[in-house]
Amino acid sequence: MLDPGHGGKDPGAIGVSGTYEKQVALATAFELRRQLEATGQYRVELTRARDVFIPLEERVAKAQERRAVLFVSMHADAIADRGVRGASVYTLSNHASDAQTAALAERENSADRFAGPEWHNAPPEVAHILASLVRQETRAGSGRLARSLVGSLDRDMPMLPNPERHAGFVVLKAADIPSVLVEMGFMSNPADEAQLRRPQHRAMVADAMKRAVDAYFAATAHVAELHHVEGISD
Ligand SMILES: [Zn+2]
Repeated sequence: MLDPGHGGKDPGAIGVSGTYEKQVALATAFELRRQLEATGQYRVELTRARDVFIPLEERVAKAQERRAVLFVSMHADAIADRGVRGASVYTLSNHASDAQTAALAERENSADRFAGPEWHNAPPEVAHILASLVRQETRAGSGRLARSLVGSLDRDMPMLPNPERHAGFVVLKAADIPSVLVEMGFMSNPADEAQLRRPQHRAMVADAMKRAVDAYFAATAHVAELHHVEGISD
């Protein structure tokens, strides 16, 4: 699930020459969807495919409804210092993760989703443990995807110092879907804004993100294989 930031009444950041973040985010998401679908390996959906306002919680809900296995939010924000440029990648901070884990354990419907019907009547303490395990897996997956994205983007474009960061973004709070937020650059920086206006640059950003998604799934398949082998030896 690709999540182009902002939209509708919320323009997001407004660039130094008047470009709206919501437009850059949507255009890059379209390009990334095109590239991913061209491989024939992915089913790609967008939280929004037009200029419409969608609340953050609804974006997460959409990913859950569609049973997304990855959630990638796409942004290009602004800060006061116009000299700051470069891309960065965010995963959810620990604090928010713990709160989400607690909330997850309380909701039987959520537990159903990952535990399968056979655990429907699991005692609360078991449901809690399962929820914690799912949250751990999700965090590990988010971290793998974030590192993959940083490595891939870093090859092609300027990055912020310590580009892999953590924050309490609402849009990253799905407990069971590895989620990252990519800041593709700063609308407040004239060089970043000028680049993000160019389709060729957006295609390059999308290509870097596509490579990261490919690497993520290649590594995840390997991890699943190891689990499978361990299961057999038990
Ligand atoms: Zn944004």
